[in-house]
Amino acid sequence: MFCRIVSGAAAAHLVHEDDDTIGFLDVRPVFKGHVLVVPREHVVTLLDLPERLLVPVFCTTQRVAHAVTTSLGAQGTFVAMNNTVSQSVAHLHVHVVPRTKGDGLRGFFWPRTRYAVGEAAGYAERIGAALDDQQGPGS
Ligand code: AMP
Repeated sequence: MFCRIVSGAAAAHLVHEDDDTIGFLDVRPVFKGHVLVVPREHVVTLLDLPERLLVPVFCTTQRVAHAVTTSLGAQGTFVAMNNTVSQSVAHLHVHVVPRTKGDGLRGFFWPRTRYAVGEAAGYAERIGAALDDQQGPGS
């Protein structure tokens, strides 16, 4: 679907275009000015993003976050990406949502849990071991 926006076959309110990325308004914004940043290349999730596109995608995300803050009078942004779970469009997209204190999103996205005593170390160890083993997704 977002490939059609990239190619110009589908309409969108573009806010940014460069060789590697585009940014456009989310059609159903959390708040007005909510932008989606996508790579032009069709990749589905963060794990599929080639290393050469990491910097372009996150540079554009940073620039858009700055722009929505300054242009809309927002105090900050929420930057997020669904990968597979809760991902409704299978083309990587970074949400950049303008945020202002008191906008009502506090606690909106996820409930928090707690580690049992001693449990956090096991999680850290498993994730750390996987990081040591990996070849580097997307590369
Ligand atoms: P997600 O649920 O994280 O995959 O986010 C997909 C987002 O894409 C949603 O916030 C939708 O509102 C948005 N969206 C879907 N189709 C379009 C479209 N044609 N133009 C702009 N935004 C879209």
